[in-house]
Amino acid sequence: MEKLRYERPVINRILSGLPDKFGARFSMEAKTEIEGHPVSGLLDQYQSPLYVISESSIRDTFRDLSASFVSRYPKVQMAWSYKTNYLDAVCRIYHSMGSWAEVVSWFEFEKAISNGGDPRKIIFNGPHKSESELRQAIELGALIHIDHFDELFLIIKLSGQTTAKAKVAIRLNMDTGIYPQWERFGFNYENGEAWNAINRIMLCQGMELVGLHTHIGTYIMSPSAYGVAAAKLAELAVRTQRKFNHTVKYLDLGGGFATKNTLKGAYLPGTDTCPAFDQYADAITSAILNSEIRPEDLPLLILETGRALIDDAGYLLGRVVANKRMASGRRGMIIDIGINHLFTSFWYDHTILPGIQVTMDSEDTQVVGPLCMNIDVIRQAIRFPLLQPGDPVVIERIGAYNMTQWLQFITYRPNIVLLGTRGETDLIRENENLNTFKAVERVPERLQ
Ligand SMILES: *Cc1c(COP(=O)(O)O)cnc(C)c1O
Repeated sequence: MEKLRYERPVINRILSGLPDKFGARFSMEAKTEIEGHPVSGLLDQYQSPLYVISESSIRDTFRDLSASFVSRYPKVQMAWSYKTNYLDAVCRIYHSMGSWAEVVSWFEFEKAISNGGDPRKIIFNGPHKSESELRQAIELGALIHIDHFDELFLIIKLSGQTTAKAKVAIRLNMDTGIYPQWERFGFNYENGEAWNAINRIMLCQGMELVGLHTHIGTYIMSPSAYGVAAAKLAELAVRTQRKFNHTVKYLDLGGGFATKNTLKGAYLPGTDTCPAFDQYADAITSAILNSEIRPEDLPLLILETGRALIDDAGYLLGRVVANKRMASGRRGMIIDIGINHLFTSFWYDHTILPGIQVTMDSEDTQVVGPLCMNIDVIRQAIRFPLLQPGDPVVIERIGAYNMTQWLQFITYRPNIVLLGTRGETDLIRENENLNTFKAVERVPERLQ
């Protein structure tokens, strides 16, 4: 047997998270290609940094979620949460699979219409809808989810002036055992506010109460909370039936399912802790089926799932700018991806992978972006191999919220490419350049 080579022992202070019972959390797989497309090739062709979205992943995840619910409940409808990712190409994939649109502003409403959406299949949520927006939404037959009494009174006023009857639902907030409880949106269940709103709607001739809605929070890791929420919505539907002989057409459980991303400070990785779609589906459908709702009145179940549907489909590709040794002795790695393009790095410990094959040699590394801002840190501490300037890196699970909450701050926003199901690569949003700004900025005559 050949004698093993001697390697000099090194003592390193551990900074990148405490070891858990399985040892130090550490992974060093390389991500050299995405669905057969070499990472370096994509960066060469479309410049760095680059967002990449996988259509197959979007479709597969959508089918998984649908299957979990459709196998347990007879009437299910998805409504794509526009604010999670409102790129037209992405929205059209969801619409092509049968999704309605869930929008929270007039901008998103207009986008949904321009994507060919039937306005009667647009759910208009959010705390701010102007009088003229509400009037148009009523005339178009959109589903208006009322957030507060001032909006309710405004719709009562408008409903006397419009030709169409306003199709409305109320949004509810409630105690589902998740704290801190979201209380700023909608009408409260426990203190009777929601029932009060329902009574006022039922007595207004110009409105039709079509649904009850709640969105209890986001990244909710306990399916049982959804069971509580569904039971409370069902209870109100039953009361409405008893008192007014009126059947509520749908219960909308909102979004909020957790993803496989790891929250900052979490003990175990998100891949281990994220509940399965089946668990959420079980909790929600059991609560509705076991309620006092009569079988012939069974409502349509609407889901507005956002992050759990698209997080896995998004990648952010970039390159190493430089390495440096900081005063503390720690290695710093600068990449061309900043927090302006990775907004979710504020609450997730994103997975960063080398885009080329690497050795097993690694070191505690602080990964920072290219911005001249102290807060531009992608990972405070992560064990990482030594990459050279120009080497590619891949950040996984960034499909949700990053392409909508991104900031045009310091740098231009990059290209976005969609990988098709048959090997296509299509540019679906062009990167910005100086002309993007020249088109909207105005310099007063005296400064010309
Ligand atoms: C943001 C939002 C969603 C989507 O939430 P996720 O946590 O991304 O699933 C759904 N419904 C409403 C009303 C929202 O505001």
